Amino acid sequence: MTIQWFPGHMTKARRQIEEKLKLIDVVIELLDARIPLSSRNPMVDEILKDKPRLVLLNKNDLADPQVTAEWVKYFAEQGLPALPIDAANGTHLKEILPRVKQLWAHKIESQLRKGINPRAVRALIVGIPNVGKSTLINQLAGKKIAATGDKPGVTKGQQWIKVGTEMDLLDTPGILWPKFEDQMVGMRLAATGAIKEELLHLDEIALFVVKYMVQHYGTGIQERYAIQELPEDMDNIHEVIKVMEAIGRKRGAIVSGGKVDLDKASLIIIRELRAGKMGRISLEKPLR
Ligand code: GDP
Repeated sequence: MTIQWFPGHMTKARRQIEEKLKLIDVVIELLDARIPLSSRNPMVDEILKDKPRLVLLNKNDLADPQVTAEWVKYFAEQGLPALPIDAANGTHLKEILPRVKQLWAHKIESQLRKGINPRAVRALIVGIPNVGKSTLINQLAGKKIAATGDKPGVTKGQQWIKVGTEMDLLDTPGILWPKFEDQMVGMRLAATGAIKEELLHLDEIALFVVKYMVQHYGTGIQERYAIQELPEDMDNIHEVIKVMEAIGRKRGAIVSGGKVDLDKASLIIIRELRAGKMGRISLEKPLR
């Protein structure tokens, strides 16, 4: 479920995370591997301050593995360890615990030196709506516990989930809001399903997707939709529309008179992208 964020919601969400931060040792920041920066909260550093942090690039099953590798490097350069995962299918989840422990190793060592039996490391998952927080919590818990859907106003009694004997995870995630101000960020969020498409026009999102696909995944789109020739000038909107029409035609989105139904074509394009039917696609690359 997607929530609409207003300043009051943001303040409340922030306060709730700050309350949770008091209880935990390490933050797990969940991002969408296809759009890591666009799926990131604009104030995340300020909110999390200096808590040790592990970045997880989720939905990597849908992202371009080469681009994801670039993102891992990008975050490493920022001093943030990052791990690509696929929470829905449980891929690479076993690597989370050792990474979290690494971030807390200095504390464990100092406790051991003092002769204290170290307790389990306490972690919190944070991220924007729909990034996969509940899916990941459920996977790590080994059962369905996290409520699906996001309601920043709803608080339950905090409970810990044991992830083996060495990690305790808060059962409710920290919900952060995405950045909306930048139109391109909005497009990426809408294209991947992080925000309601009703907030933007479907055809605009589809235009953005097609343009990006032609520019970065041209051969794939050509083969998939049997497009003879791709346009060269993708800044010319009429050229982009021609590609949309070709896709619509291939998928049978035709109205009477043989014209392509662009609304229907837009919906098909967005659905196929989200379902991974266009291949593994990343919609954002690190700027260097
Ligand atoms: P939350 O709002 O952050 O708690 O997100 P959810 O856990 O409810 O997940 C949102 C949607 O993303 C659901 O439809 C999940 O099935 C899907 N999802 C979560 N993780 C993955 C993943 O790794 N790969 C894919 N393809 N889908 C995922």
